Amino acid sequence: MSIHLERQLDTLRSAYQLERFPSLAIRLDRLGRVKAMLSENETAWCEALSHDFGYRSVDQSSFADITTTIKSVNHALKNLKFWMKAERRTPDLSLRMSGAKTYVEAFPKGVVGIVSPWNFPINLALSPLVSVLAAGNRAFIKPSEATPATSALLESLIAKYFSEGEVSVACGDVDVAQAFVKLPFDHIIYTGGETVARHIMRDAADHLVPLTLELGGKSPVIVSNSADLTLTAKRVAFGKYFNAGQICIAPDYLLIAPDRLESFLAELKTAVEIIDSSQGSADSVAVVNDRHRQRLDNLVSEAESQGGRIIRFSGTNKSAYQLSVLIDPSDDAGINCAEIFGPVLLIKTIGDLSEQITYINKSSHPLVIYYFGRSEAEFRRVACETSSGGLVKNDVIFQYANDDLPFGGVGGSGMGKYRGEYGFKEFSNNRAVYKSGFIDVSGFVTPPYSGMFRMVNKLMRKI
Ligand code: NAD
Repeated sequence: MSIHLERQLDTLRSAYQLERFPSLAIRLDRLGRVKAMLSENETAWCEALSHDFGYRSVDQSSFADITTTIKSVNHALKNLKFWMKAERRTPDLSLRMSGAKTYVEAFPKGVVGIVSPWNFPINLALSPLVSVLAAGNRAFIKPSEATPATSALLESLIAKYFSEGEVSVACGDVDVAQAFVKLPFDHIIYTGGETVARHIMRDAADHLVPLTLELGGKSPVIVSNSADLTLTAKRVAFGKYFNAGQICIAPDYLLIAPDRLESFLAELKTAVEIIDSSQGSADSVAVVNDRHRQRLDNLVSEAESQGGRIIRFSGTNKSAYQLSVLIDPSDDAGINCAEIFGPVLLIKTIGDLSEQITYINKSSHPLVIYYFGRSEAEFRRVACETSSGGLVKNDVIFQYANDDLPFGGVGGSGMGKYRGEYGFKEFSNNRAVYKSGFIDVSGFVTPPYSGMFRMVNKLMRKI
């Protein structure tokens, strides 16, 4: 198996060595093929996704996996020629006077490994691919074994739309994934959980492979005393129902003043009823498999058995996993630390902003912090007194709809950022170029040292 992977990597590397700097036209053509592969096979993609999840709304798949990825391709098609332009930098004064020139130019890194997860199996494999191809690299994708039909379709369509030297796919279980991340890539982007990320970092160390780690964690929602509770409840409910809350940037827990809790719960009930009444089975998404259903059941039942208050919303769609809300579970409950990643919401009744910030800062940095409220001053405090990959005011999840914003975590939620120009830079070797001028500057600092050297030495500290 590992020999097979090595052979695929060799093919990609040989192709890269024959064409180390693909032209703009070649890159645009490759991006165009990603777009064609998505739009020409939309029905097949959505069917495979629904099969893998047990059930997944076709409309949701079409929007969340197909449209969002096509949007990223369009953004790259429109902007790539500007991203590829060398960026002029200003040389130090002494070098400038000598006529020197400096600039930064982005060169492909080579072959990039993409390890993708199951929750948005198309978008989270192909959105990194857009950045990787825009930067002129070759790509090798290891999709998730938890969505086998979608991964198999990805493998066959990549083989149809790309040559083996451009993009390759390796499907398989964890043993394939483990062998894959040991390969001497020029860069790896991994999207998934934190535990596996630690293994990948250890493996990548052997070949000093640079990493982009797109992880998860517990993204909080701060409900300020100035928040509009109807709007907050509506958006939080959306965040928990979209893809059944199986989203790395889904709201995980909510911090609210004790005296606003009941009003919020009433608004949440209304918001859930509206979603549920229109949801039927056609618009819903299932929890991906038994293992994850069991994991969620365990988190909820453990918290309940320890005396936490629980509200179970009972919807009309009996096959869907219904939203549960856990309020102030005991400090020992696992749900306080584990990422929920499903249709369960944790609420902590903490109303004071300073205490909310302290609570957030007790855990590792989240992927995103959501603030609901009207106060710019409070929002600024949250920005300056916490750390997270992203920061959002009065909305959830839609930060991801912006291709011109970087996406990624910090600390426990990951490292490196991609999408748009940030993705182009992440997968490029941003080379510093210096062209010396007409005056021999090094002549001033070459022995034997003279009075001139001492004067230059002093002058350089002042400019
Ligand atoms: P998963 O089980 O599908 O695993 C992700 C990938 O890792 C798969 O391709 C799998 O084959 C591979 N893998 C598994 N074990 C491995 C090993 N030992 N070595 C190397 N590779 C291995 O997905 P998951 O981990 O259940 O995904 C859910 C997590 O991903 C959540 O924590 C979620 O927050 C996070 N996530 C993050 C983002 C983001 O963009 N930041 C997006 C989606 C999901």
